[in-house]
Order: sequence, then C-alpha cells, then structure tokens
Amino acid sequence: NIEKILEYRIMPYGDKHLLLVARDVTRVTQLEEMRKDFVANVSHELRTPLTVLNGYLEMFNADEADYPKAFMHKAFAEMTAQSRRMQNLIEQLLILSRIEASAERVYEKIVDVPQMLSAIDSEAAALNREKSHGIRFQVDKNLQVFGIETELRSAFSNLIFNAIHYTPAKGNILVGWHLVDKRAEFFVQDDGEGIAEKHLARLTERFYRVDKARSRKTGGSGLGLAIVKHVLTHHNSKLEIASEVGKGSRFSFRFSNELTVVKSDATA
Ligand code: ADP
Repeated sequence: NIEKILEYRIMPYGDKHLLLVARDVTRVTQLEEMRKDFVANVSHELRTPLTVLNGYLEMFNADEADYPKAFMHKAFAEMTAQSRRMQNLIEQLLILSRIEASAERVYEKIVDVPQMLSAIDSEAAALNREKSHGIRFQVDKNLQVFGIETELRSAFSNLIFNAIHYTPAKGNILVGWHLVDKRAEFFVQDDGEGIAEKHLARLTERFYRVDKARSRKTGGSGLGLAIVKHVLTHHNSKLEIASEVGKGSRFSFRFSNELTVVKSDATA
C-alpha cells in the first residue's frame, strides 16, 4: 500500500513537466501502528479482569440468595486475584513509561547490587514458600555498578520472579552476580519449562507472551521483559537469552567495565 510508505504531491513544473515530491513516511506509519496496538493491548488486558469482577458484582447485586461459604470464599479469592492483576499491570505500565520518558544518564551513583539482591532474595523466599523451588544466590559481595537504582531493582526482580513463575515446583533456580572479564555479570538460570527458539526474538516486546493463558494465571502483565530491555539500554547493556524447551532458560546481561566497580578488600 503505497500511501502507507510515501506521502506525495504532484505539481506543475514549467509548461511541459510535472514535479513529484515524495516523502518516506514508513517510520511515522509504524509508530502510529505501534501506538494503536499498544492502546488496544492495554484495553484488552484491563477488560478481561474487569469482566470477571463485574460478573460477580452483578450476581451478588441481582440475587439476595445466601451463597454457600465455600462459594463465597472462591468468589472473593478470584475477585482479589483479578484486582491484583489490574493493579500489577498499572504499576508495570507506570514503571515502563517512566523509564521510557527518562533521559537520565547513568554513571552518577554506585548501586550496591549485593544488598539489593539480598532484599529481593527475602521477597522471593516469601513468594517461593508455596512452590518450594531450590533457589540459590551466588553473589560476589564486592561487586557493584554505576547505575540507576530503581531501574536496576526492576530489572533484577523481573528476571528472578519470572524464573519462579515459569519453573514448576521442586525446580532449581540459580541467581548469579559475578565478575567475568572485568565486567559485572548478572544471570538467572532455571531448569523450568524453557522457551522455543521461535519466540526468543520477540520476548522483550510489550505484551508478548509464549502462553497467554498461563502468563495471566501467574499474574503476569506481559511487560516485565520490555522493562528489563529498556533498563538495560539505559545502562548500555543488552539482555541475552538462552533457552531450550523442557530444559530451562538462562537470562543474563553484563555491564561495561567502566560501569563495573570492584570494592577492594580494605573498603569491603
Ligand atoms: P509476563 O508478565 O507474561 O511474565 P514478561 O515480559 O516478563 O511477561 O515475559 C514474557 C514471556 O516470556 C512470559 O509470558 C513467558 O512466556 C516467557 N518467560 C519469561 N521468563 C521465562 C522463564 N524463566 N522461563 C520460561 N518462560 C519465560
């Protein structure tokens, strides 16, 4: 469709000629399509939990019958889960838009990554209680980076919580923070369900999910890896994903050696 690629005008040029002025609008059109897709996706994500909530509310409203306790219990649990899902989506959207809008440059502040990982470890332990994974942290306590603390926390915790969500009970998760070739590297490795090769390139797109129904059930917003990607771009880094179906996944990234800080033993 030529109108989507070119914007053009034809004008007389002297007596015998015509002048064609054309402008390539591919990028403008792409951005417009992306914006429309984004709005459609957000609306869809919000509509589904709202439909469930409204269904229950209408039922309770229309009908004065006494429902059995077990039914009420289930209804409220479901309503709570759906309202949490909306809250999580809105929080993730706000984080994403803040990160996208921020022109903040890094290199200003040293972030104590070991301390941050220890806080995330406690949160993960609470979440993990019901699933009983073997989750291990191997953290180099002397290793820090220059960066934006809130953004890095989001990136680390999204990867760790994804591993917990997508690894069945009794699976193993290893979280690592160590020095490789003078550069700080973070990785999360799990022996969970793994991801087929064809999905890997699209995984960091907003709302891209391998299994939509499953991801929603875990409360996932579909924005986690998009957030990770943006955070890493801000820190001149890139997410690497290695995965095999049935074997597990490894998500990792490295900071440049300019951003890597190794505390000497004297200051440690
Ligand atoms: P979500 O909120 O759906 O988890 P993400 O952007 O964080 O969104 O992840 C996108 C998709 O990538 C998930 O829906 C899931 O299909 C897949 N995924 C992410 N992490 C893992 C993992 N550790 N193992 C298997 N699949 C994963």
